[in-house]
Amino acid sequence: MQFSQTRHTPNPKVRSCRKLDNGVLVVDDSERHRYEIISWLNSQNISKIYEAADGASALRLIKSLPAMPDVVILDLEMPGMDGVEFLQVLEEKDLRPAIIIVTSADDILIGSVATMIEAMGFKLLGSYQKPCSRELIEEALNRYFDDLKGQGIIGDLVNTSVDYDLLKQAIQSSTICPYYQPKMDLKTGKCVGVEALARWWDPKGNPISPTDFIPLAEKFDLIDELTIALVNRILMDIEYWKLNKHNIPVSVNISPLSLKNRKFISFLINLVETNRISPKMITFEITEGRLVENLSETLANTNRLRLKNFSFSIDDFGTGFSSMEKLSLFPFTELKIDQHFVKTGLDNSKSFEMLGAFIAMGKKLGITTVAEGVENIDQLCMLKELGCDQIQGNYPGKPMSAQFLISWIIYRDD
Ligand code: C2E
Ligand code: CA
Ligand code: CA
Repeated sequence: MQFSQTRHTPNPKVRSCRKLDNGVLVVDDSERHRYEIISWLNSQNISKIYEAADGASALRLIKSLPAMPDVVILDLEMPGMDGVEFLQVLEEKDLRPAIIIVTSADDILIGSVATMIEAMGFKLLGSYQKPCSRELIEEALNRYFDDLKGQGIIGDLVNTSVDYDLLKQAIQSSTICPYYQPKMDLKTGKCVGVEALARWWDPKGNPISPTDFIPLAEKFDLIDELTIALVNRILMDIEYWKLNKHNIPVSVNISPLSLKNRKFISFLINLVETNRISPKMITFEITEGRLVENLSETLANTNRLRLKNFSFSIDDFGTGFSSMEKLSLFPFTELKIDQHFVKTGLDNSKSFEMLGAFIAMGKKLGITTVAEGVENIDQLCMLKELGCDQIQGNYPGKPMSAQFLISWIIYRDD
């Protein structure tokens, strides 16, 4: 590894150490690698740094600590308990630090472990082959801070705790509203639709992430109510765009809990009909991994909606381990390839091959392929070369309000 051992001036590039309150744990059997990483972490003013030479001693150390370290920098190959087994034990104990993998394993194994880590519910900040530069670890740690920022935790923000009453009130007062992220056609470069993403800010203006409140809405049995409130707003926004001479189709995320509910589906169909919006303007996105939770009800209801001319997209495609046989049962019109493959496609040959295979499969089935999480021009070019139909991500455009979307489209088309 090419870590500087002599540098002790704090590097302004690692933006904040305030939220590494519980510190960083380095698990690696090579004393030299541990030393190099730890010297560098020290130079970044990170105060709590722990080290262990294998999984078992790391677990003993964790047991003796007041809290689980926030980030674990983990080697995969170690004598005794290896990195993968160590992660399995953490998962069993419901401990979920953010993970950085630094390993001598090959690309294919790294890719497979990365998928496993995310499937286990860990936040993977980066996975790198040794020797790994200081800049890459820095980049991975900055991802940790970006994530906290995205969740509204960094910047002296209050971490709102959401209970049933607060969520119900937010739904009923329309405090939770849709923002719209553009979908760009790769042939024309034009915006061909948007995905509605639920947004909620607490009274101090701090964002509460949908990855936090959507599962709570499901748990509190408020998800149907929330989706209907959002769809109401979306229908108004489609009308507003139409008045401004823009016909913008919208993709709506739908929970499998709502999709199995016959009465909810009837209500939804009626709502769209009463608002005189064509169902062709609406695509429902269903996460691949949760598609088969209630197979027969979900199948019946997707067929009902499809018969009414609504469209369907398999979201986060590639992460769900669904069999092709099950997927082919559903009347899908779009395949939305998960961000993971876009993020790793340029560096990891297996991800690249998978992207190509998903796109080819979409073409064979005659359905639209959309790649998510496009953050730069290189990823855009890769997907264009692979023949992907559409992209979505922060590079083409971040989620924005209904009003701002119009200015954004006009500005881009000029
Ligand atoms: P999703 O449906 O896969 O939505 C894409 C997520 O990726 C969004 O996160 C979006 O803001 C984020 N994203 C888009 N482009 C980029 C990029 O270039 N880089 C990165 N790093 N991220 C990007 P968001 O808005 O936080 O939503 C998270 C998840 O919450 C969604 O994942 C979806 O599963 C769920 N969700 C959001 N709104 C709703 C909703 O109205 N109903 C339901 N049932 N679920 C929702
Ligand atoms: Ca989605
Ligand atoms: Ca997705």
